[in-house]
Amino acid sequence: PDVAGPLLPVLGNDVLVPLVTGGEVPYAALDHAASAPVLRKVWDDLAAYAPHYGSVHRGAGHLSQISTDLYERSRATVARFLGCRADDEVVFTRATTDSLNLLARALPDGTRVFVFETEHHASLLPWRGRATTCLSAPRSPEQAVEALDTALRTAPAGPKLVCVTGASNVTGEVWPVRELAAVAHRHGARIVLDAAQLAPHHPVDLAALDADWVAFSGHKLYAPFGAGVLAGRADWLRDAEPYLAGGGASRTVARGADGRLEVEWHTGSARHEAGSPNVIGAYAVASACRALEEAGFERLVRRERELLAHLLAGLAAVPGVRVLSLFGEEAERVGVVSFVVEGWHSSHLAAALSAEYGIGVRDGLFCAHPLLRALLGREPDEPGECGAGESSSGAGQRPLNAVRVSFGVGTPDEHIERFLGA
Ligand code: PMP
Repeated sequence: PDVAGPLLPVLGNDVLVPLVTGGEVPYAALDHAASAPVLRKVWDDLAAYAPHYGSVHRGAGHLSQISTDLYERSRATVARFLGCRADDEVVFTRATTDSLNLLARALPDGTRVFVFETEHHASLLPWRGRATTCLSAPRSPEQAVEALDTALRTAPAGPKLVCVTGASNVTGEVWPVRELAAVAHRHGARIVLDAAQLAPHHPVDLAALDADWVAFSGHKLYAPFGAGVLAGRADWLRDAEPYLAGGGASRTVARGADGRLEVEWHTGSARHEAGSPNVIGAYAVASACRALEEAGFERLVRRERELLAHLLAGLAAVPGVRVLSLFGEEAERVGVVSFVVEGWHSSHLAAALSAEYGIGVRDGLFCAHPLLRALLGREPDEPGECGAGESSSGAGQRPLNAVRVSFGVGTPDEHIERFLGA
């Protein structure tokens, strides 16, 4: 509790892990960037709601009314958490990947997409099939802004969308979102922020950033799996075909005189939320947003900065360690750090951290293959499914992929100490 305030004890830190060397230790969850531990407050909220569980937008009964109310209030909580403008839509999705695919399906005909090669595959791949300008990895935030400015200035006329990450899932480096949004708007483009890694570590204010949309995942923001969000401008969403066709998205359906089905679709968020809404998921996301707000995000950010400085200084003192970075030492970062160690293969290191120290990290290419190529300066190892590293090369050869250590709310000093000691 002294770590993050009484509101924020995190489940999972007390699980005991057997070690190959004998004995057991409490698990050190240093893989928040993949999925963060769930806040106890969120589980408690869900448990309190459980007896009132019912269908959303589909029942006249008392519990359906409660659930519908909770679902819509969750939307309002998320809108506040994200600093949405009054006329923005908040659409509940499955997670960031789903949110960005939804937006990709809602782009007006002829939209050209601008994206840096450094993005997570979730913000790199949904635009396939569209005209896409893929920009090289910039070496500073200023270079990123310049490169986008040049690309947009010389782009053909027509609708344009820029997609950019708020914080890298590999380097943890924070991108100059406000500046990129200003450049995009100066050239008549829209911008979507992939906040999967930023939102758990830093307040996101859509209006202040002047971004058009934002996407994030509940399971990285201390809620359990199941729900994510796409929030932002209503117009493109309203004018698009529904993401899924089905009940809930349709206002009226009739068989026309010619025997064909005529459908009038909803215009608001319901248009893209066909099927029975995931009220548990939406409520969990809202509960996590509220818990972070109530704990005071600024305080959490300060605490994370201290841990991060300690982690980076500790890594810098270990011979042979290279921390991966695009923007250099001056970069603003969140609690996500990837590194390689001379003479070690990353998957061996990650396996040893788990088996000998009870530390959970991730190794591989982190669903960001072009970025890893840019960071490592060569072809990375053949990735497994989405980058789980396996390699034919052993200790003694140059590492071919990386280890990622990531943390957040509720991470005690001891986890970082144990990691650096290991
Ligand atoms: N974008 C970034 C920056 C991410 O780190 C991730 C998850 N690793 C995603 C998108 C995709 O999120 P999800 O798997 O929850 O859809």
